[in-house]
Amino acid sequence: MNRLCLILFGSPGSGKGTQAQFLKKHYGVAHISTGDMLRERVALGDTLGRRVEKMMQTGELVPDDAVNRMVDDRIACEDCEVGFILDGYPRTVSQAKWLSHRLDELGMWPMVVHLEVDYNVIVARISGRRQCPMCGTLYNLAKDPHRVACDLEGARLEIRSDDREEIVRGRLRAYDQLTAPVLAYFKDSGYPVWDVQGDGAAPEVISGRIVDLITREFKERSQAV
Ligand code: AMP
Repeated sequence: MNRLCLILFGSPGSGKGTQAQFLKKHYGVAHISTGDMLRERVALGDTLGRRVEKMMQTGELVPDDAVNRMVDDRIACEDCEVGFILDGYPRTVSQAKWLSHRLDELGMWPMVVHLEVDYNVIVARISGRRQCPMCGTLYNLAKDPHRVACDLEGARLEIRSDDREEIVRGRLRAYDQLTAPVLAYFKDSGYPVWDVQGDGAAPEVISGRIVDLITREFKERSQAV
């Protein structure tokens, strides 16, 4: 099989993490989340970590050159030999341009999956979340509409401030504004970009759809050679 480079896009609450975990196991590839990598560097307190700590706290984007260099080092690691899934990267058109140039040098042709989920479903899912202020256990009113207190602590459940509907809608709008130009760049560059419906089906059904698309793409590529 050709080396896989899958770029995974999905808004908060789209199930992107679940799909990334499944695809990583299925293909035996690395899962590269730039958010996780940056959090590790902040925890380590190295030069990059210290440089980006404030930006991450405020949700500001880390400068392109720093993220590109980090990704460049990461994709050279042994566990990326079979391929890799990029999650949370690229986030800007400049990162996308750098990546496509680098992949070109490596002889790789990426595939892009955009997990689409109806925002009303995400808002309902997230804004129905309630948390125990004492032990942190999460409940969801969608599944458990009469729930008011925690089973473990007996405490009255609370809504987390970042789970409020207006905050969730704001995060989704910001995601759209950021993602749209990057997706447009990949489409215009002629890479395969697939919009995959991320709700209304079990996660394994959605994984199956993505695997089918990848299989078909590899088949077409091998026939084109
Ligand atoms: P995430 O976990 O993907 O939401 O990322 C958490 C934070 O890490 C973001 O709010 C940014 O500050 C930073 N970050 C992650 N990925 C990138 C990226 N590709 N470009 C710039 N900043 C990033």
